[in-house]
Amino acid sequence: MANKQQTIERICCVCRKLQPIDQMTRVVRVGGEFLVQTDKRLNGRGAHVCSACLQSPNLQKSLCRSFKTQLPATIFQQLTGK
Ligand SMILES: [Zn+2]
Repeated sequence: MANKQQTIERICCVCRKLQPIDQMTRVVRVGGEFLVQTDKRLNGRGAHVCSACLQSPNLQKSLCRSFKTQLPATIFQQLTGK
């Protein structure tokens, strides 16, 4: 691993492990709408998913549990489609 200062880590909502935030995808709820964060930071309630878990069969279940609601299918298409 490279020595990097200021490595920010977040807990992945699927595997529950701390991961470097720059390798994670953030899903945010802004108002009543769900968005996959790209480059700009979005304010709102968010959940982080590490890159490995984007392919996890538990992705959908874990994200819905994090937000305590169903997420639109388009969110999962965005998450897994890249
Ligand atoms: Zn994970």
